[in-house]
Amino acid sequence: MVEDFLQIQPPAASPLAPQCSAKGCRATAEWQLHWNNPKIHTPERRKTWLACGEHRATLGGFLEVRGFLREVTPFASSDGAIVS
Ligand SMILES: [Zn+2]
Repeated sequence: MVEDFLQIQPPAASPLAPQCSAKGCRATAEWQLHWNNPKIHTPERRKTWLACGEHRATLGGFLEVRGFLREVTPFASSDGAIVS
């Protein structure tokens, strides 16, 4: 399950800077990974993970080998943290 890879944090529990979505990582997010699972999502749907510099490759690779990765964009915390 892809979702198992995520460290799920309710927004209320993350008052500080948006964090990397990698399990156990508390680094500040620097990247947004936009992905789509064609088996369960419509083509225009985008899920979003946040990644620190270190986990951009880890999380990106995880999505890419499954053919899910669509786009990686720099993340600025002023954009607001939207992990979906
Ligand atoms: Zn990380």
